[in-house]
Amino acid sequence: MFLADYHVHSSCSFDASDRMAAMAKAELKAGVSEICFTDHADIGDSQTMQIGPERFQLPRSQVRQFIEAMEKAPEGIDIKLGLELGEGNHDPARAKRIYAMPEYDFILGSLHNLRGEQDFYFIKYQSEEHCHELYDRYMDELIELAGVGCFDCMAHIGYCLRYMRKQGFDARLGMDRYGAKIDLLLRALIENGKGIELNVADLVPGGREDALLLPVPGVDILRRYRELGGDIITVGSDAHNVKAAGCGLREGYELLAGIGFKYVAVYKRHKPEFKRIEL
Ligand SMILES: [Zn+2]
Ligand SMILES: [Zn+2]
Repeated sequence: MFLADYHVHSSCSFDASDRMAAMAKAELKAGVSEICFTDHADIGDSQTMQIGPERFQLPRSQVRQFIEAMEKAPEGIDIKLGLELGEGNHDPARAKRIYAMPEYDFILGSLHNLRGEQDFYFIKYQSEEHCHELYDRYMDELIELAGVGCFDCMAHIGYCLRYMRKQGFDARLGMDRYGAKIDLLLRALIENGKGIELNVADLVPGGREDALLLPVPGVDILRRYRELGGDIITVGSDAHNVKAAGCGLREGYELLAGIGFKYVAVYKRHKPEFKRIEL
């Protein structure tokens, strides 16, 4: 079964621990034959990799690790270089310049924090109402981000839910309450030729200690994307260490096939190529 992992972190990310070469080896062991490294570069967050605005070149750590991974790569795995570019809508001009850098094959567009707020990871949620107020703003910012040409696939739609749930709130981005905004978002992505990511970091036990056993985005959003004609989708383990490499990928492919997706996308120079899902 062909498996491609299009969301992989290395120790170039502030919150990950293993080098690209080790991650590639672990991914191959997990049965994956193509990976894309998508280390963090969050606009305006000095903790993550800094690219620009003055210095548009690959950070040295990334160059070194990528070359090492290519040299040490075991037979049987294709390695691509990408980025998880966060909050592109907070500085669209800069985000577009990063997107135009020739070294990257694929860029995930993420939103980890709203304007003027901390990463959803750090927020202390007060009530269901507080969660809804933040969702609403989250959806608005995702719609904004969908209009910025700074990514290929939108990462983990519903990222905020992970942390709300962990603090005991029954958080969901349901079509009933958020249908209009979800449609606006998905239609904008489809019209702009962008795809979405199925993030499987939480889908199965074994990767993250505290996995929620849910796909991100949820099944209703995946279904709606397909109904609206969306057909560009990547699957990513969002692995931050060798233990999580490729975890949940197989189950993610099965989930997509069950919803009716026939292909997953892989990328070369920001152009999607389609690989048939064979179970
Ligand atoms: Zn992310
Ligand atoms: Zn990530």
